[in-house]
Amino acid sequence: MPRCVLIVGAGPAGLATAACLKQRGVRAELVDRHGVPGGAYRRIYDGITLASPTRHTGLPGLDPKAPEYITVPQYRAYLDGYAAHHGLTVRKATVTRVRPGFQVQFESEERRYDAVVVATGMFDFPRRVDGATHASEWRGPAALPGPRVLIIGGATAAIEIAEECARALLQPTLSVRSRLKIVPQRFLGRDLHDFIVPASRWLPRWVARGYCHGEQSLPGADLGFREFRRRGVVRLRGAVKRIDGKSATFVNGEREEFDAIVAATGYRFERSFLEDETAPGLHLVGAPCAHSLASEFLYGIREDAGKVARCLS
Ligand SMILES: Cc1cc2nc3c(=O)[nH]c(=O)nc-3n(C[C@H](O)[C@H](O)[C@H](O)COP(=O)(O)OP(=O)(O)OC[C@H]3O[C@@H](n4cnc5c(N)ncnc54)[C@H](O)[C@@H]3O)c2cc1C
Repeated sequence: MPRCVLIVGAGPAGLATAACLKQRGVRAELVDRHGVPGGAYRRIYDGITLASPTRHTGLPGLDPKAPEYITVPQYRAYLDGYAAHHGLTVRKATVTRVRPGFQVQFESEERRYDAVVVATGMFDFPRRVDGATHASEWRGPAALPGPRVLIIGGATAAIEIAEECARALLQPTLSVRSRLKIVPQRFLGRDLHDFIVPASRWLPRWVARGYCHGEQSLPGADLGFREFRRRGVVRLRGAVKRIDGKSATFVNGEREEFDAIVAATGYRFERSFLEDETAPGLHLVGAPCAHSLASEFLYGIREDAGKVARCLS
């Protein structure tokens, strides 16, 4: 059994892993650059409701108590309660390098561990577009300077932001490079997640190779988007070639002025601080496709944290 495990990141993945290790009696230190539990949920805008039903968002040992769908503030409170429930503490520290032998470099010190769990998530590492505000900084329609909003992207976040703008009677335009990725929220009277969650655990990763390699995004749920589109409230345009201030030039050469331009272009899983990603004793939790197709989602984190703790004990 390793003497001390370092868990980098205190979002859902780090907290879940710390709780599972504690339950198995493995000594672990949980660090986060922000020094508080919650990870992305400390910074995601409060107006968002999670697309997964609450029953698929619980972490090991404590389920959230909320209606069928949980909001970001409710989930943040759940994570605070989760840390307290399991007696987890978070040390404020940023890992800058993990050398072979788990010699870990922080900003101003170096320590050695026996194993390392990387649970650094993706929210701190947005894929940006020059001239646009990234979706991670989205603060809702009320924060916009005017009604004409260009949203770059054709998957989950782009669809959610477009729907929110349409509900607020703004004029959203979606810039989609290839095709819009949208699926119905419900199927046979049930939330689509009731089918996706079990399937994503056993489907081999090669069936979604493009997604696992970060080349493709997953579809967003239709919570009114198609109806807004049918009524002409949401417009679709092709890819953006250039942004100059508030003006966007599209690939067909046309230019249009907007009041705000938002890039819903996703995130990347950053782990450049690792010198050797293959070292025995190094584990990823919350990284896309780390263990299964569900690994970056809350329902995957729940499974993977348990697996990693079992392996480390
Ligand atoms: C808007 C939005 C909606 C979502 N909705 C759903 C949903 O409905 N259902 C679902 O299952 N999933 C959903 N997700 C995905 C899932 O919730 C996130 O992927 C989840 O936050 C991942 O948790 P994590 O702990 O891996 O990462 P994070 O929550 O990002 O936490 C990682 C932590 O690590 C810290 N960190 C990073 N690098 C370092 C370093 N070098 N040193 C120290 N600390 C570091 C970061 O600051 C951060 O605090 C959503 C995500 C977003 C952004």
